[in-house]
Amino acid sequence: MYHDLPRSTRFWLFLLAVDLDLAETTRKQGCPCGGRLHSANYLRKPRGTPVQLPKEQRLRLSFCCDRDGCRKRVTPPSVRFLGPKVFLGPIVILISAMRQGPSPRRVRELFARFRANRRTIARWQVFWREHFPQTPFWKRARARLVPLVEIVTLPYSLVDFFLARHHRCRGWTLLLRFLSPITIPGALRIEISQ
Ligand SMILES: [Zn+2]
Repeated sequence: MYHDLPRSTRFWLFLLAVDLDLAETTRKQGCPCGGRLHSANYLRKPRGTPVQLPKEQRLRLSFCCDRDGCRKRVTPPSVRFLGPKVFLGPIVILISAMRQGPSPRRVRELFARFRANRRTIARWQVFWREHFPQTPFWKRARARLVPLVEIVTLPYSLVDFFLARHHRCRGWTLLLRFLSPITIPGALRIEISQ
């Protein structure tokens, strides 16, 4: 069913455009200290992208405060980069989802194409099953998904939720936008209540 990402360059360009919008919103808000934010992007080296991504698409958009004594780095949410992982967010979601999917052959093909090894994928599984459901983001956001999404089959259940309702490119974009709040540094911290 949802065994692949859109391969067209247009899809990845569109994700970049969404990231630019998210970045612009962050820039306009400025630094919490009141300072202005200047562009301070950094280059990532994502692995296993389905299309060869040009340099501007490998940039993690980011800012630095211009005020002396602050100089804080402020990184906006992203639909392309999921935390510090070396794989692009969509790939992490897709491969993890396929582990719960129907066809072992498909999974082998994905492993081969994205050059992700089993240990990496096992770590992603732990992330989706155990860490992600504990995040403040998920606890708030899951109420917005009706019907409810099953935790035991994350992230497949999330992919299914968005792609069953929308055309493929649009479904992926909505899913990545939904998840984008977890991509800013510190957003995956878990609150442990005593
Ligand atoms: Zn500042």
